[in-house]
Amino acid sequence: MTIDDAPRDALRGGPRELLRWVATGAAVSRADLSRLSGLSPSTVSQRVEALISQGLLEEAGAGRSRGGRRPRQLAVPTGGAVVGAIDLGAHHARVGALDLSGRVVQARTLSVRIEDGPEAVLGALLAEVATLVGSDPAASGGSAPGALRGIGIGIPGPVQHSTGRIVSPSRMPGWNGFDVAAFCAGRVDVPVVVDNDANLMALGAHRTAHSELDHAVYIKAGTGIGSGVISSGRLHRGAQGSAGDISHCRVVADPAPPCTCGNAGCLEAVASGAALVTALREQGVPVSDLTGVIRLIDDGDRQATALARQAGRAVGEILAVVVNFFNPQVVAIGGRLADCEPLLASMRATLYERCLPLATQTLLIERVAAGQDVGITGAAHLVIDHVVAAA
Ligand SMILES: [Zn+2]
Repeated sequence: MTIDDAPRDALRGGPRELLRWVATGAAVSRADLSRLSGLSPSTVSQRVEALISQGLLEEAGAGRSRGGRRPRQLAVPTGGAVVGAIDLGAHHARVGALDLSGRVVQARTLSVRIEDGPEAVLGALLAEVATLVGSDPAASGGSAPGALRGIGIGIPGPVQHSTGRIVSPSRMPGWNGFDVAAFCAGRVDVPVVVDNDANLMALGAHRTAHSELDHAVYIKAGTGIGSGVISSGRLHRGAQGSAGDISHCRVVADPAPPCTCGNAGCLEAVASGAALVTALREQGVPVSDLTGVIRLIDDGDRQATALARQAGRAVGEILAVVVNFFNPQVVAIGGRLADCEPLLASMRATLYERCLPLATQTLLIERVAAGQDVGITGAAHLVIDHVVAAA
């Protein structure tokens, strides 16, 4: 099952928005929710009661009195490991159990071999989620306290949003056309939502650090390269789910390196971690993986640093188009290359050089701050949004 964005929630004061105001501390009472949403107290009350009956909100003690009866304080239940999350990468997966506020209760990193294929990899990761949640997902479900509510999965390749199917991924042999959602539905008894890893990073980073900003672009630069777009406060997926996929946009590069997609000069073939490994090897530098590349850059290696700068310029060129077109309030870069200073510096310089002054006047350009759990946090929010919409 994939997430359905209920249009009613686009209206101010939809259940998801009410829940988010409580989760972020913007509202602690029904009166706050009424004020923020502009909805009548009785409508707010009705929606709050529905959320409470679903176990998505709880009443915790009494709020500060403004004369008369002390208002009951609303809170999102915390502490229960009730949402499973998987952030799959090319070599590792971060697996977590989170609570309904999107807080990580337990998480661990596992080595994976993506080339072992989807059944083996996803089967092992679902088993790990079950262990972390402390129960067999197939045996749980329902709305009892502590029961698993759903599992969110991030995939390092394009995911068709309506079906949860993987379409032509770059470095995932054996995964093309695989229906992740259907495979998982056959193994667990709770909703499974699937999206690409850049979208989940965007959602996790936005909810964690920028939920007050409406328009944001998050670049994920690791082995591959992609981006997720937040528009009007919501993840923007486009018609099929490919919005934000900048990996095969063409950049100026001479010579233009061949790309896994069959074209040449794609951003991914110039600026991704995999591209840096390939380029260094071609220059005779014996480097085996991205970790080795990052170490060389940190050590000030001349060839590696020059390639990182070139990569930063390439990312900046594509981002400049995105920024001019979309006019976000923040551009944040995450993934393993985000700590690579020469890349970040040339990306920033290119952005300022290539963007309209009006687009960059107040633009924040920064690193994603949420750390290694940003992907599973986004996955959990995807699940929570789905559960709330279904409720
Ligand atoms: Zn390509």
